[in-house]
Amino acid sequence: MFDIQKADQKAMEMIAPAVKEAEEISFFTTERVMEAFREERVSEAHFAGSTGYGYGDRGRDTLDKVFARALEAEDALVRPHFISGTHTLTVALFGVLRPGDIMLAATGKPYDTLDEVIGLQPNGDGSLADFGIEYQQLDLKDGEIDYAGLEKALEQPKVKMVFLQKSKGYQDRPTLSSKEIGRVAQFVHEIRADVIVMVDNCYGEFCERHEPTYYGADLMAGSLIKNAGGGIAPTGGYIAGRADLIELCSYRLTSAGIGRESGCTLSILRELYQGLFLAPHVVLQAKKTAMFAAAMLEQMGCECAPAHDAPRYDIIQTLTVGSPERMLAFCKGIQAGSPVDSFVTPEAWDMPGYDAPVVMAAGAFVMGASIELSADGPIKPPYIVFLQGGLTFESGRLGILRAIKEINDQD
Ligand SMILES: *Cc1c(COP(=O)(O)O)cnc(C)c1O
Repeated sequence: MFDIQKADQKAMEMIAPAVKEAEEISFFTTERVMEAFREERVSEAHFAGSTGYGYGDRGRDTLDKVFARALEAEDALVRPHFISGTHTLTVALFGVLRPGDIMLAATGKPYDTLDEVIGLQPNGDGSLADFGIEYQQLDLKDGEIDYAGLEKALEQPKVKMVFLQKSKGYQDRPTLSSKEIGRVAQFVHEIRADVIVMVDNCYGEFCERHEPTYYGADLMAGSLIKNAGGGIAPTGGYIAGRADLIELCSYRLTSAGIGRESGCTLSILRELYQGLFLAPHVVLQAKKTAMFAAAMLEQMGCECAPAHDAPRYDIIQTLTVGSPERMLAFCKGIQAGSPVDSFVTPEAWDMPGYDAPVVMAAGAFVMGASIELSADGPIKPPYIVFLQGGLTFESGRLGILRAIKEINDQD
């Protein structure tokens, strides 16, 4: 029988050096966020919000500037009107691409929810394909960017965008570091200065000292119910990058001719500001929770990526638990270890778009917020649980311990 108490103590020792490094990163990124607040002279008046058309909403416009500084970008568009990460990415794609352009994905197939946005099987729903925007894809080669393939693809003058997904998402592949994204951006821009390097930055924010935009990505987008909302934002998304591209995105978000001038914020601004303030710290909590999970499961002989002591470029942890029963047991424990809906037992179900039943565990204050402790995955070999989030390390550690107890009982 696996001795959970002993493994818990051992895991805490195992992760200590990596935790120390993660704390240094959080200290570094917190300083940048604080500097952004100070430079933009944020005050109580910025939290007031607006109604109706939302003209002259100073709090909204200043939030854009604070985010731009925090994310090391020329400009940013931060809005509660973005309903999800997918919607935010959609606005960015439609914002800058035009009929006849080619969108080139260079990290393999993008996140599943983008299939229909791109129009992999056009059906008249208004996908990019419906509007004459062509999609091409380069798969990773042993987890690395295919630079030779990229150089060849860029010979097509119609390539307008190189699209990169930083996080592994629900794939079994390494997450790209911001630096590696920077290398791709430089490579692309040396061949074709006019090509937009866009990054799906979901789950990536504040995991490293610098964001992809710092290293030369032109545009990136993410969700506020993941890292960048610090567990406080109840909804929303952001796009950050080159000012001219952000302006184009603003016309797609609202209307041509209106752009970012309109869009009321009701009473949400305080939460968006406070969420950003907390984001580096909350990301640290999630990273520590992920490290702890890896250290525990490694002691059980499971394959974990990243390993407990490896660098982390996003908050996702994959745990190969090895059987359907163990997947369900683990998720049951995570659910029981949540502050909300702790009494329910997650069951696998046939989710549209997946070739195997999917199990999901989450008991969050914000519905579906995966910056809060959550675990999920399609029930198929090799039986990988995707774990992410944790608003506090203490609750994250407790959740993992509970999940492992469920596996123990199952075994
Ligand atoms: C979560 C996620 C998305 C989509 O965000 P939703 O808010 O679920 O629509 C896109 N890409 C990646 C890498 C993600 O992790």
